[in-house]
Amino acid sequence: MGDLRMSDNSSPPVRLRGHTLLCMQGFRGEGYNAEFVKNMAAIRRTLTDNPESWVEVLASPDTVCAACPHQHPYGCVLNGARSEEEMIDQDQVVLQRLGLKVGGRIRWQQILERIRSSVCGDDLPSICGACRWLPLGYCRGGMDRLRDPTQDTRVDRLSSQTLPSDPQNPARV
Ligand code: SF4
Repeated sequence: MGDLRMSDNSSPPVRLRGHTLLCMQGFRGEGYNAEFVKNMAAIRRTLTDNPESWVEVLASPDTVCAACPHQHPYGCVLNGARSEEEMIDQDQVVLQRLGLKVGGRIRWQQILERIRSSVCGDDLPSICGACRWLPLGYCRGGMDRLRDPTQDTRVDRLSSQTLPSDPQNPARV
């Protein structure tokens, strides 16, 4: 997936499921395979460079899932047969916290503002359950940086600059 251009009202929205709105905050250029990392990095970079981009929020497979090796026609199989069901539950929890509804459209900047005011690192265990990325602390760090006014608020930009030029290497399963 190449860079997307979505800075005006005529551009299609980026379709993201509820819990992925949080995952984006902790992304450090690692993922399930190289294709996944490349895709997620491109999406995040697009949103960071164009915070006015429209996002359509979902509780179903999204633009990130599209390049995931654990995505099957019937949904996520990362954690077994009930995985998609569990992901949907997480999506619903996050959307409710952010005051969003499935199919709603909102600018990325407003999503960041809602996360900043509604979710902190301590909330993640109850939202994310047994997600394998949670113990790494990336998402907690991303969430806390988003909320801490003493930090550079261009945290997304800073993070995107640390993305590796070669996404083949850091792919992490
Ligand atoms: S812990 Fe997992 S589900 Fe939660 S924000 Fe991080 S990557 Fe997403």
